[in-house]
Amino acid sequence: MKQYSNGITKKNKLMQFLCRHKNIGSYTQQSQFQIISGETVLHICKDCGKMTGKQFLEYEGMGFK
Ligand SMILES: [Zn+2]
Repeated sequence: MKQYSNGITKKNKLMQFLCRHKNIGSYTQQSQFQIISGETVLHICKDCGKMTGKQFLEYEGMGFK
């Protein structure tokens, strides 16, 4: 079983199949490389740990776009 750094445990394939993924959370991807122009945000189901999406947030000036 894979453990995310944010504490969410990734469940097995059957659990992910049965899960409706209604409890999606957004998490910043932990990268070994510092990205200064933005950051990758992962959408992960809190119930089963399945990643449902990925989004790159670009910094513009001092804040988010
Ligand atoms: Zn789920």
